[in-house]
This record gives sequence, C-alpha cells and structure tokens, in this order.
Amino acid sequence: MAVEQGRYFDDAESIPPQRREEIQNSKLAETIEYAYNHSRVVKNLLDFVSIKPSPFFKISDLEHLPITRKTDLIELQKTNLPFGGLLAGPAEDIERIFISPGPIYEFQPAGNHWFARSFYAAGFRKGDIVVNTFTYHMSPAGLLFHEGLRQCGATVVVMGTGNTDALIQAMLDIKVTGFLGTPTFLMSVIKRAEEMGYTFSKDFALKKTWFTGEMLPASLRQTFEETYKLSTSQAYAVTEPGGAIAYECEAKSGLHLDDDYIVEIVDAHTGKQLQPGEVGEIVVTPLQHKAWGLVRFGTGDMSSLITEPCTCGRTSNRIAGVLGRTGDAVKVRGMFIVAKQASQVISSFANVKKFQIIVSRQDDRDEMALLLELKDEPVDRAKLADEISAKFQNICRLKPDSVQYVEPGTIPELYKTIEDQRKWD
Ligand SMILES: [Zn+2]
Repeated sequence: MAVEQGRYFDDAESIPPQRREEIQNSKLAETIEYAYNHSRVVKNLLDFVSIKPSPFFKISDLEHLPITRKTDLIELQKTNLPFGGLLAGPAEDIERIFISPGPIYEFQPAGNHWFARSFYAAGFRKGDIVVNTFTYHMSPAGLLFHEGLRQCGATVVVMGTGNTDALIQAMLDIKVTGFLGTPTFLMSVIKRAEEMGYTFSKDFALKKTWFTGEMLPASLRQTFEETYKLSTSQAYAVTEPGGAIAYECEAKSGLHLDDDYIVEIVDAHTGKQLQPGEVGEIVVTPLQHKAWGLVRFGTGDMSSLITEPCTCGRTSNRIAGVLGRTGDAVKVRGMFIVAKQASQVISSFANVKKFQIIVSRQDDRDEMALLLELKDEPVDRAKLADEISAKFQNICRLKPDSVQYVEPGTIPELYKTIEDQRKWD
C-alpha cells in the first residue's frame, strides 16, 4: 500500500540490494513454476531447452531460455485464439482485455500497482489535478495510468487524445497541476496556448509533468524546466504485460527498475546477459501476477544497466533510458554501438557539423573509424580528436580506432550513421 507521507511509494523501493535479489530470485522461481504448470507456451519453452522448474531457479538461469518477441505473440495468438496459450491464470480472473496492434489481446487481472511507484517518484500526490492525455480507447495506457495516479491520491482529468483547444480550456478552467503525455504533445500544447495569447507559466497552474512513449531529449527537458518552470519525469513502459518497467526519480540519472519485473540487458543475438554499462536489448519477465505466461519478453529497445547507488536512496538498479532499437545497433568487437548514443556524444561538440562511423574488418579484427566534417571555424584538431575519442569511449564503451577529418561534402546526403562494411562470407 502507498505510504501517504513517505519518501517512496512503498518499502520495496529501499530494501537492501542483496535482500531484493533474494526476493526476486524466489519470486522468479515461483513464477516460472506456476507458468510452467499453467501456460502451454512456457511449458514448451522450458521443455525445448530441457529445463525443469525448481525452487532454485534464479535470474542468471534465465539466459538459457529463448526470448519471446512481439511477432511471436501475434503468431501464437493467431494460431490459438484468443490468448495463444499465454494465459497462465483462470480466465474468469481477467478483469479486462485490451487490444493492441497486431492484434494482440492483452488480458489483465485486477489489483496491481502498475504505475504507482513511477507517479509517486514524479511527485504526484493527493491534491494534484492531473490531465491524462493518453488514450483510454482499446490500449492499456489511459486506464492503467489513471489507476496509478489514483493510488498516489491524485485527481485525474479523463482527457484521452484529441482536441488540443479543449484540453487547453480544461487545463485553465480546472487549474490542472499535472500532465501525463508525450513530451512532443506537451510542447505542442504550450505552443498552441502561446498562439492563443496566454503566457504559459503565468496563466496555467501546471507544475508537474510525466512522460512516456518517447524519450525526453535533454534540450526539451531544459526548455520545460527552465522556460516553463515545470518538473519533469519519465518512465519506460512496455505494453505486454503492461507496466512501468523503469522510472525516474528526482536525481534524473537513469531510470530505476521496478521490483515487479526481472529486467535483463542482453546480447540480442545470443540472449546472453551483459555486464553493467554494456548496451544490449531490454528483456522483461513480469513477476507481479499469475496471468501472463510470459518469460523473457524481448522489447527490441536497447539500454544499459547502471548499478551504482542513486542519491535518491532507492536501492534498485537503473537503466540508462532507451538508447535505440535493436535494428539500429551494430556490434563492434563484441560491443553494441548504437547510432543514437553515438549522436549524443558527437552533438556535444559544437565544432562538428556531421559525422559517420565506418565499421570494417582488417586482419580479422573489427575496425571503427569516426569520420568528422567540421564547421568552418578554427579549431585544434588533434585536441578535438582526443576529446571526442575519450568521450566516445566513456559513453559508448569503445574507443574509435581512428578519428578522421574529411572535407565538407564527403559524407553523402543520404547516409547511415553507422556504416557496416564488413563482409562475412
Ligand atoms: Zn534515484
């Protein structure tokens, strides 16, 4: 239950890390055993790799099981309607069914705090009036966010997607203090309000915002916080099986993992678990209910694990936000280089106009060259190359083998951020 005046939504957020690991391992063993006995999909999965459920099953054992992806869910449900053998609990315990694109029929039991920890960490409390701009129609977003806000005590304005002008009017009339939506949508609401002649920070009561669905760029966050005096928070949510897998705290240095899921960061090709700091696919196994027979759901999103303690006092590990999709990543000497992460590094150097990474193979070794086109300004090229190389290694965990300055126009108009020239035949 929520602790009304507490620092965290519940005690689970601040338990010693070792205790958490014990609890999660034991919950995982229970979940696997229950799912094995009640879901045909999970039984097939374990039988396929000759693993039997056991009370000693632990997080590190997961890497022996195959990853299930969204395309698998669609296929399973198509051939075995409606739930494809993924329903592990009694059908009469399902409270509601959502329909996600695919279509995927998502069934959910009652009585969980899917998003409450995330909203609590974002500062939503009793007395807040929060406009929920996610759709209440078919998909889980609107309704689940609504319930999470209620568990933190906030009042919810049932908005859904749609008319921006009606939303602006409601925000003014009801004196809305909180906003749930995408960062892009909030920015368009602010721009529209300004066009209508309002001064946003003066005329609106809005103070707290929470985003999901797309990551919040640092520059946009700065605009919301500094220009419009809004607090910002974001969460990483996955539709199947529904919940805030990870969420930000006030430290905003990564997203805390929610205790009700096992989150692995894995090599998308081999399924092997990676070390903290290494970039890989986010793979989720829900622990909190006995409905979904879903073990190792591959999200297709890439991130890395942060295990250093957080200043907020929450003891869970964090992930570094979504760094890209598995298709955007190229593996170089065993490490995934993600285009978006490389862009983050390069964009912090004002002298660089354009860049491209060329991955090739020489003498059975992967070579990574960083090509840079510079702006027409004087710069110490050797020093800049050193600085970029160091930052690249720090953020992407791999040092470019060479930094090459090329003439403006060398990098073509239509180009891939990471050009993989390796031939494997
Ligand atoms: Zn924290």
